[in-house]
Amino acid sequence: MREDTRIQSFSEPRDQAGEPVSPPICRTSLFTFPDCESFEKTYSKELDHPLYSRVSNPTTTVLNQKLADLEHAQEALSFSSGMAAISTTLLALLKHGDRLVLQDTAYSPTLALARDHLTRFGIEVIDRSIDQLHDLEQHLPEETKLVYLESPASITFELLDLERIVLQAKKKDIPIIFDNSWASPLFSQPLDWGVDIVLHSVTKYINGHSDVVAGTVAGSGEHFEKIKSFAPLHGGFLAPDESSLVLRGLRTLPLRMRQHEQAGLKIASFLEVFNGVEKVFHPALESSSQHSLFKKYFTGSSGLFSFRYKGDVRKCVDALKLFHIGVSWGGFESLVLPTDLLLSNSNDKRLRPDVPEGLIRLSIGLEDVDDLIEDLERGLKAGLS
Ligand code: PLP
Repeated sequence: MREDTRIQSFSEPRDQAGEPVSPPICRTSLFTFPDCESFEKTYSKELDHPLYSRVSNPTTTVLNQKLADLEHAQEALSFSSGMAAISTTLLALLKHGDRLVLQDTAYSPTLALARDHLTRFGIEVIDRSIDQLHDLEQHLPEETKLVYLESPASITFELLDLERIVLQAKKKDIPIIFDNSWASPLFSQPLDWGVDIVLHSVTKYINGHSDVVAGTVAGSGEHFEKIKSFAPLHGGFLAPDESSLVLRGLRTLPLRMRQHEQAGLKIASFLEVFNGVEKVFHPALESSSQHSLFKKYFTGSSGLFSFRYKGDVRKCVDALKLFHIGVSWGGFESLVLPTDLLLSNSNDKRLRPDVPEGLIRLSIGLEDVDDLIEDLERGLKAGLS
């Protein structure tokens, strides 16, 4: 069965009369038992019933099964944010004295979590550039217990040669965690390349409607088991109402992603030839030096990319009518992020010193692409006048 079909039906059996077509919202904290035997058997996992929603909830379980299917994973868990997914994963897999090799162009709060907080627990965090990661064996200190990757890189959108990195990490049996939020599970499945754990900000494309903050972790085997047993203690699973909203968003993921892709590429191509634009950072553009890596690892591109502008960024952004300024992405609405404004904050600059000045990030939404191009043209011209 193809993905578009599975997205609609996976984990939603319709073999009984009167089956609800949409998974019910199981809004309860607790599940009770009429007798000691059923409670005891459930508690010892002999019977498969939910006990308590901090540990599992039937609405969230449907979502977890669908996300696992999409990521080609055995299992998935949903969290109350992408950061909850990331922090739970790192805390579950690392301990005092371990070393974490961290891609230095990952999402800034991930960098902050690792560099400023994991280190408080005696975990050493070792930053590596993409070039160093490509020659991982030379840049892998003793006692490295985990490698954390994200492709494309946040804000600058460089791609990793994942197969090359995985081969080197596997020689030393070091697990890899991969943030797959940009592509969504529709356009890339890093587990198929040997990555051990995949995670997402579900807030972005998976939900797609900018009305939920959520995250997911998918995988299998011993590393996933560790995350699974630690997660209820960390206590950040997704609530049933939010899970139901994500289940609704997920139904249109294929339609939305194809629209984001087409519109994103059309706008990136428009920007490429606009004389006030120095460079477009979109890995799926044919002119991109990363295009062959893109073709190898992705079956499509999303609508998130950036460009370097030669004009006045503030004037340009303030002249836009359809693009609003926002720090998130992946929703139905087009967003613009002038990264200079972030980098004027010394903490953000410390986290990502590599981000060049004049960079503008766009998240292309589901509006008519020609309206978006007209809006951008107005903004770009205003910033050059
Ligand atoms: N990973 C990436 C690449 C992100 O861009 C974000 C949020 O912007 C996150 C993870 C964190 O997700 P959340 O905001 O859902 O906690």
